[in-house]
Amino acid sequence: MKTVIVGAGFSGLAVATRLRASGVDPEDILILEASPRIGGLISSIRKQGYLLEGGPEGFRGNSDSIQSLLKQAGQVSVAIPSTPATSKRYVVKKGKLSKLPEGPLGAITTSVISFRSKLRILAEPFVKPLDVKEETLASFVSRRFGKGVIDVLDAFVSGVYAGNPEELVVDYVFPQLKMFEKNHGSVIKGGMRFAKEMKKAKKLRKNEDKNKEGEKPPFLYSFPNGLAQFVDAVGKKFNIVVNSRVKEIFGKNHGYRVKTQNEEYDAETVVLAVSPNALSQIQMFGKKQKTSTREAKVVIVSLGYDSSQFSRKPQGYGFLVPSSENRFLLGALFSSEIFPHHSPENKVLLRCFVGGIRHPEYTKLSDEEIVKNTLKDIGDFLKPNGEPEFVHIYRNKVGIAQLEAGHHLNLAFKKQIEETHPGIKITGIGWRGISTNHLSSESENVAKQLKSILTITKSH
Ligand SMILES: Cc1cc2nc3c(=O)[nH]c(=O)nc-3n(C[C@H](O)[C@H](O)[C@H](O)COP(=O)(O)OP(=O)(O)OC[C@H]3O[C@@H](n4cnc5c(N)ncnc54)[C@H](O)[C@@H]3O)c2cc1C
Repeated sequence: MKTVIVGAGFSGLAVATRLRASGVDPEDILILEASPRIGGLISSIRKQGYLLEGGPEGFRGNSDSIQSLLKQAGQVSVAIPSTPATSKRYVVKKGKLSKLPEGPLGAITTSVISFRSKLRILAEPFVKPLDVKEETLASFVSRRFGKGVIDVLDAFVSGVYAGNPEELVVDYVFPQLKMFEKNHGSVIKGGMRFAKEMKKAKKLRKNEDKNKEGEKPPFLYSFPNGLAQFVDAVGKKFNIVVNSRVKEIFGKNHGYRVKTQNEEYDAETVVLAVSPNALSQIQMFGKKQKTSTREAKVVIVSLGYDSSQFSRKPQGYGFLVPSSENRFLLGALFSSEIFPHHSPENKVLLRCFVGGIRHPEYTKLSDEEIVKNTLKDIGDFLKPNGEPEFVHIYRNKVGIAQLEAGHHLNLAFKKQIEETHPGIKITGIGWRGISTNHLSSESENVAKQLKSILTITKSH
């Protein structure tokens, strides 16, 4: 076998797709998956007409990398764009939903941030840059923008990482912010320069590809049967062995031997598309390594209502709850507003998030208690008339990796392995990022590096 990929989650499947697109014969790729199903954190089910996602709601639309992945996977024609409603987002302030600013003018007029904090934000370009090692996101943001934005940051971080900005390290979760400070002395200045360059590059690409002119990508993409449809369609193109947990990898001749509980496979190159915690369970070159991250587990409570139960139907993307509000929910997505095909006609689907790093104890509550507390918050924020007609609870077995202090040890291990064994690549959630958008870009780099190794091997 030329390439063995460990893990049939989004990352493993994305690397396989990239390799295939670069000319590698799919017959030369084998994917080994520990669980009985592929997709990893991505799972979608339809119940009583509601489409329920267990992981991401959709793939980022305005990402060139996601666009190319959809193209290479032959999934562009079936992808469903999110509605423009996604531009409206809310944060809970004093028990009520407050609209987050949509653009620069909105940022000036928003009531979410005080007048004093707005002035402090504008002073950011004059704040002296500092090089602090493994600085937390909260420290970085309050140092540069003032403490007045911490509540919004806290809510945002809950929405993306289900994590705590006092623990997440800016260098790992938003390395670009750190680069802006380092290279331009200011996040605002660096951000503006970056936006300008992106705009220029986009214009250039549009000129090269006339068909793209006028097209504005949606915020997200999904599929008629959710993200699992994408995963299944990609999975069909490759040889995947499920129920096949990789236990050990070691060098063999000029390549590697990959051992599962039942089988052994020889490979020229191996991609480990698993998180640091999952990697710590694989013996590599005679040793088990101590790679690890904390994981934020979330419970997803999906609620279905008849539209008539709302005097004002929830409109927009959803809302986030800062920890200062002392609420049960981390936030909720207005799923049927983002993707109307996620609910039957005239129904409202809300996808509510519980637990995370903020309240891991909530994830251990009984279904009854979780639903009771969720309904209390939803009742206060959205005021539906009566009980939901559909309730579904999804408990993720694996959580979202938190890139916190000490993560440099994981990265040092990855670097050492990849440098000592050029045929081995490590990717996946929890190494350099956690979003599918990021992992999609990573899959392009991994495939490019592998392709050159495979070509060299062939020519020898
Ligand atoms: C609730 C929730 C909401 C999210 N929301 C978003 C969002 O809005 N936007 C976004 O971009 N991302 C979001 N994410 C993150 C997104 O789901 C992940 O980025 C992505 O799915 C990770 O894919 P992966 O392949 O790297 O890892 P995984 O999905 O964890 O896949 C790894 C696979 O490897 C397998 N494996 C592990 N060990 C072994 C072994 N030894 N041998 C063989 N196989 C093994 C596992 O069984 C698994 O199938 C969300 C995640 C969750 C949980």
